[in-house]
Amino acid sequence: MYPFTFMRASDFQEALAAGSSGGRYIAGGTSLLDLMRETVERPGALVDISGLPLRDITVNSSGRLRIGALVRMAEAAAHPDVRGTYPVVSQALELSASAQLRNMATIGGNIMQRTRCPYFRDVTAACNKRAPGSGCSARGGSHRSHAILATSEQCVAAHPSDLAVALAALDASVHLLGPDGERTVRLADFLLRPGETPDREQDIDLGELITAVEIPVHSRPLKSGYLKVRDRQSYEFALTSAAVCLHLRGGVIRTAKVAAGGVGTVPLKLPAVERRLIGERPSKRLWAEAAARAADGARPLPGNRFKVELLKRTIERQLRVVGGGE
Ligand code: SF4
Repeated sequence: MYPFTFMRASDFQEALAAGSSGGRYIAGGTSLLDLMRETVERPGALVDISGLPLRDITVNSSGRLRIGALVRMAEAAAHPDVRGTYPVVSQALELSASAQLRNMATIGGNIMQRTRCPYFRDVTAACNKRAPGSGCSARGGSHRSHAILATSEQCVAAHPSDLAVALAALDASVHLLGPDGERTVRLADFLLRPGETPDREQDIDLGELITAVEIPVHSRPLKSGYLKVRDRQSYEFALTSAAVCLHLRGGVIRTAKVAAGGVGTVPLKLPAVERRLIGERPSKRLWAEAAARAADGARPLPGNRFKVELLKRTIERQLRVVGGGE
């Protein structure tokens, strides 16, 4: 380890002042402390924000669901408003990490977690995300678990969050508080594709912190579910995953929200799949035709070409699970 300072913020003002001076926010600590132990991250100051009042889960009068940034993953997964209205969110949380981690890790921290690319965590390896301009060891090395969509020449690391896939499907937004006040960003815009700057992963400024994530109102009842495909049944990141949310009226699909995980540098909405579903009646043929579009634009590497077909099958299966149909 190396020296760093630690302070516990007693209110927002204190937190923002310390964050604006370069302090790194910490709450559950399940992600950042790992990276510090491996010296991938070396913050000079930690600001503990776990005492801030950001632990509420609320539904406002119009039906928007707001989850405070410091709500623990396990609390959110078990909350009746989350479980009852958006099973896809509960399931994504329950399929993430171990029970011990879910009891500690927060919603905000989950959104902010960094890639599991092994080269990113090996400080002796070339990695554009950790050391811009140094190269990408994954391209010529082991990249079986890496992304096939939204990649760049600079980086092909897959985004690790299951929760973010469910939230992306539901068009969730991220609420931020910083020295210049509050702002709200769509999750899809908050998590940045690598492009030429893979070291910049979120649209967040110095001193800003996440206060909540919010899911807008959707047509009810919205049937939803999350499927995670991985090498082993527990404590493993997704090779592919599917978040599917469908609203049917009169036997016809009126709303379709579909996103994929494990295959993109960010959680990816699949608009081509959604478009194919709208206005149709559930059927095995429809699920197959819609899922066939899931990997449009994929740019796999030799070691992860299998993900193209695996993604289509993951989406198809979860469409069938949520939507039924003969
Ligand atoms: Fe680094 Fe991204 Fe390449 Fe992994 S895929 S080595 S995180 S640049």
